[in-house]
Amino acid sequence: MLRQACEAPCDMGEGLLTLPKNVNYIIETLQGAGFDAYAVGGCVRDVLLGRKPNDWDVTTDARPMQVKELFRRTIDTGIKHGTVTVMLNDEKHEYRGYEVTTYRIDGEYEDARHPKDVTFTDNLKEDLERRDFTINAMAYSEKAGLVDEFDGKGDLDRRIIRAVGDPYERFSEDALRILRAYRFAAQLGFGIDAATEQAATKLKDNLRRISAERIQAELTKLLCSPHPDVLLDMHYAGITSVILPEFDECMRCQQKNKHHLYNVGEHTIRALMVNAEFSGVEFGADTLRYIRYAILFHDFGKPEAMTEDENGARHFKGHAVISERIAKSVMKRLKLDNDTIDTVAALVRWHDHRPEPTEANVRRAMNKIGPGVYRLLFPIRIADTLAQSMYKREEKLAYEKEIMRLYAKVTEEGDAVTLKDLAVTGSDLIEHGYKPGPELGEKLKELLELVLEDPGCNTKEYLLSKI
Ligand code: ATP
Ligand code: MG
Repeated sequence: MLRQACEAPCDMGEGLLTLPKNVNYIIETLQGAGFDAYAVGGCVRDVLLGRKPNDWDVTTDARPMQVKELFRRTIDTGIKHGTVTVMLNDEKHEYRGYEVTTYRIDGEYEDARHPKDVTFTDNLKEDLERRDFTINAMAYSEKAGLVDEFDGKGDLDRRIIRAVGDPYERFSEDALRILRAYRFAAQLGFGIDAATEQAATKLKDNLRRISAERIQAELTKLLCSPHPDVLLDMHYAGITSVILPEFDECMRCQQKNKHHLYNVGEHTIRALMVNAEFSGVEFGADTLRYIRYAILFHDFGKPEAMTEDENGARHFKGHAVISERIAKSVMKRLKLDNDTIDTVAALVRWHDHRPEPTEANVRRAMNKIGPGVYRLLFPIRIADTLAQSMYKREEKLAYEKEIMRLYAKVTEEGDAVTLKDLAVTGSDLIEHGYKPGPELGEKLKELLELVLEDPGCNTKEYLLSKI
């Protein structure tokens, strides 16, 4: 009988796993036409773990054209690679795609999902053999039960990421698998099998040939996972020296002052962990990505900013601006999208900005950083503080609490913090004799300054009296 690694009730008795109706429908339709078909890969792993799969993949000995003939709506996702997407109505009566891929043996991979050339095969085992890890190389159908050629189920129980077959061969075929190993370890809270990790270290330089987009996708998933501290394992295995050498710099940077117990790199990992333990659930995917990348980068400028005083204590004045510069260049290198680059850069730049806690200062900061981005600083700074020494911890946390209270008050009262909240507009000024142009912009900013200081000033009469 299949045992569950987690508590979710997906085992329906003797060896039966619950697949969604549509997946069973696809499998049964293919079987009805005389083909073999199975749910395969990540979805089988996730069902066994009681996790909700991201997507459902089906593998079959039917060729793409034969798959297309059996279903009314299909998309030619990657016919060359054997993949057809079958579109079906789900329980919510929305169209949803299911990837159906012909059993295949892969050539070299050139992007996240598609190897350069593939050979179709009629043998399920050969298809499972091309997959990266044992836990990702299981197939399942109601008719055949679980097909587990490489003891993936055993590795799920042992909580181990282990390459299918010879790890040197597997990582030589596609070096991205090195990062996938750490990413799955981080998402599932698993360890990496020793031989698999040795091969990863040995072949780490092959990662230089992998596209930035593929590297970034894995790094993002790892950072946003429940175990971002896996990044530290990647450092000790030599992997960050290839994909994120800036982090290795941080690991070499001792802080030697009262505020810190750890080097910059370890401090960063601890801050990521604080965020993973105490928050994260309440954030959407975008917000979580902004926060985790901002924590990763917040002190990247410290090695460059470091000075040592006559007592041997180290200082990092101005590090936030340097961190911002480095963060931007790393994010560009990793081909992150512009929204992420802009938001994370702002968070990194302002992470250490701590003015007197007054409502006016909170409004000014919201104006400078952007009201939407500003609130993301709170979890970042709390994580930063809790990853430092105990020195003045109570005071530091009390400051954050007070700033959050002021922020709640300012937002609740709907205080103006941007030009568009101002009670007068450019046209009002033009009506009163201003000409369109830079001077008008300057005047509006001046009026906003008054309002940031005192929201009571935000009336048309008062502001017009000031021009
Ligand atoms: P996720 O939860 O991120 O979707 P997944 O395991 O489903 O994880 P996918 O990238 O969706 O990963 O790939 C689906 C399956 O295809 C994997 O489970 C694995 O069997 C196989 N696979 C994907 N990428 C590779 C690769 N680079 N090398 C070998 N097999 C791969
Ligand atoms: Mg998947």
